[in-house]
Amino acid sequence: MLFGALEAGGTKMVCAIGNENGEILDRVSIPTETPEVTLPKLLEYFQGKEILALGIGCFGPIDLNESSETFGYITTTPKLAWANCDICGYFRENLGIPVGFDTDVNGSLLGEATWGCLKGLDTAMYITIGTGVGAGIMAGGRLQHGMLHPECGHMLLPVRSDDHYAGKCPYHGTCLESMAAGPAIEARWGQKAETLYDRPEVWELEAHYIAVAVVNFIMILSPQKIVLGGGVMHKDGLIEMVREKVTRLAAGYIQTKELADMDSYLVLPSLDDNQGIMGALKLGMDRYQQERK
Ligand code: ADP
Ligand code: ZN
Repeated sequence: MLFGALEAGGTKMVCAIGNENGEILDRVSIPTETPEVTLPKLLEYFQGKEILALGIGCFGPIDLNESSETFGYITTTPKLAWANCDICGYFRENLGIPVGFDTDVNGSLLGEATWGCLKGLDTAMYITIGTGVGAGIMAGGRLQHGMLHPECGHMLLPVRSDDHYAGKCPYHGTCLESMAAGPAIEARWGQKAETLYDRPEVWELEAHYIAVAVVNFIMILSPQKIVLGGGVMHKDGLIEMVREKVTRLAAGYIQTKELADMDSYLVLPSLDDNQGIMGALKLGMDRYQQERK
């Protein structure tokens, strides 16, 4: 059985064909331009591939409410050309197959939960620290959407007194994303994050903000495990610093076997950076099963 997968990002669109075992058999990457230019290229890739369904893990905000008139749309995105784009409907109509749809981070979470390090757990998170910050949440074995979908990157957090960077979120100034995403590191220190490896103070502060967010997530959701992905987490040693700070900030208030083993609790992605595309594949598989019933 073949399924299509689309990881829709602000800079590139990754398209793939895979099977029900999560094996990716073919993939291409297409730059994200405008919907008018890019959507037909994506469609052309999927046409004639004999896929039973398509799954899309998409940048947001997106409409995931099935009773809404704009279900399956990208809604108010800052990537303005894509605002109010009926991305799901476009593929549903042109391919004539079921289309599963969720946020990119819920996609990565689903990939890890199905084939990776979150397998067998029912309550977990996948946090990405890249161009933006986002998080997917699974609770009771289900991806969480609530009224829209979680927007964890915009959680508010205390600015550390020695940090004089003002933050650039047009809505919140100093939310998590605006203080800790890759572009925030670059704006604060004047260089791209990947060129700052010789500046320990950069990573000490970065680990602090990530750890504050992680502790808040632990207290709110009680996840059994948390994955930290995204480009910024490629910095060697960062995950260890975050683990150490999480243990310190959580201060022993919660005593569980999971938190006692922080190296297994707070982890990097386990699927060689395929978690997003594999998760999109699973979104397609799940939608296929759902529509067959
Ligand atoms: P995106 O979020 O656009 O999908 P990434 O997850 O790669 O892409 O995130 C890009 C951000 O991560 C950039 O701000 C970049 O500076 C930062 N980044 C990429 N690679 C590294 C690295 N090896 N070390 C630290 N930061 C990195
Ligand atoms: Zn914000």
